Amino acid sequence: MMQQIQQQMSPTRTRMSLPLSKEERIIRLERLKDAIDAEQLLRTLGFDITHVTADEIRAKCKIHGGDNKTSFRMNKHTKNWSCFSHGCHDKIGFDIIHLVGHMLNLSFSAAVDYLESVTGISTHDEVSYVEYRRYKDRQETIRQMDNKSIPTSLTDEVYLKNFRKFRSSYFENPANGGFPKEVLNEFEIGGGFVDKFGFQRDVIPIRDKSRRLVAYSCRDITGKAPYEYKYLLTEGFDKNKVLYNLFRAKEFMGEDRIIIVVEGFKSVWKLYMAGYKNAVACMGRTITPGQQSLLYSTAFNVILMLDGDEAGRTGTAKALKDMQNKINIIPVLLSSDRDPADRTPEELQELLSVIKQGE
Ligand SMILES: [Zn+2]
Repeated sequence: MMQQIQQQMSPTRTRMSLPLSKEERIIRLERLKDAIDAEQLLRTLGFDITHVTADEIRAKCKIHGGDNKTSFRMNKHTKNWSCFSHGCHDKIGFDIIHLVGHMLNLSFSAAVDYLESVTGISTHDEVSYVEYRRYKDRQETIRQMDNKSIPTSLTDEVYLKNFRKFRSSYFENPANGGFPKEVLNEFEIGGGFVDKFGFQRDVIPIRDKSRRLVAYSCRDITGKAPYEYKYLLTEGFDKNKVLYNLFRAKEFMGEDRIIIVVEGFKSVWKLYMAGYKNAVACMGRTITPGQQSLLYSTAFNVILMLDGDEAGRTGTAKALKDMQNKINIIPVLLSSDRDPADRTPEELQELLSVIKQGE
C-alpha cells in the first residue's frame, strides 16, 4: 500500500519557488481540505463506515481498532475528526492531514502531497485551485437546476402531442412577441406543464439536426418564477451539441449555405416571420464549441445576430475570435435596447438586406 501511494505522488511536480507566508499557507491548506471527498478518502484509508449524515461520517476507529461502530466521527465540511471512545485525536491531531499522515505513516508535508495527488489540487498552484473552484461551482449549478428541471420521461413525441393542446396565449400577447398562432404551430409550441413550484409553463420543443426531439425549454407564463428560472430545460440536456431549429434551417440555406445565428427561440420565430427560415438559436450568450462544429459541418456563411446587450457583444467578439478562418462570419451589431425578437419582421428584413448589399 505504501509503495503504491508513493508511486501515485509525482516527485517531479514543478513548484512556484516563492516562499509562502504563513497566512497564504493556511489558506491553501484550507482549500485542499475543502476539495477532499471525506467519505471516499476514509474508505481509501480502510475505515469501515457505518453511518453517514449530511454533516458527519461515523465509523469504527481504525486507529485504536475497537469494535464501537460509531466511535470515529468526521465532520464532512471541516474534515476534522475525533475518536469518542479512546480520544485518538488527542495523540494524532484532529485534522485530516494529521490523520492521513498517521494512517499512511507519512510526514505532514508528505501527507499534503498525498492529498494533492488524490484531489488534483496543488497547494502551490493557484491555477489548479481556480479550475477546481469553477468545477465545483458548475457542479453546484447543475445540482440546483436538476431539482428544478423537466423530467426526461416527458420529453417524447406522445407527451409533446398532448402539451400542444394546452398552449396558452402567452406568446401571442404583443408584450411577449405577438406571435401568430400559425407560427407557434409551426414551431410546435405547447403548454400545460406545471413545475414543482406550481408555475405553469408553455413548452418549446428542441430538436436536434436530425429532427429528433431532445429537450424542452419551458417558459413560465405566470411571471412569478424567479428570473433565472424563467425557462426550465429538460434534465441533463446538453445544449453544447444542439442548435435550435437547425434541422429546418439547413433546408433553407440556399446555394451559399447561409445560416443566421441568434441567441433565443423567439428571435428564430421572428426571423421566420420575416421570411428567414435559415435561422438557428444558440440558446445562450455564446456559441459553444460543439455548436461551432455543427455550423462548420453545415454552413459556409454565418450571419451572427446576437442580442445588443453587453453579454451579446461579448458573445459576438468571442465567436469571431473562435470561428475566424474556419467559416465566413458576418456580425450584425444591434443596439442594446432591442433584441431580434423585439423587432418587427420588416425591421429584420431591413437589417439583413443591408448586410447582403455590404457583402
Ligand atoms: Zn480511536
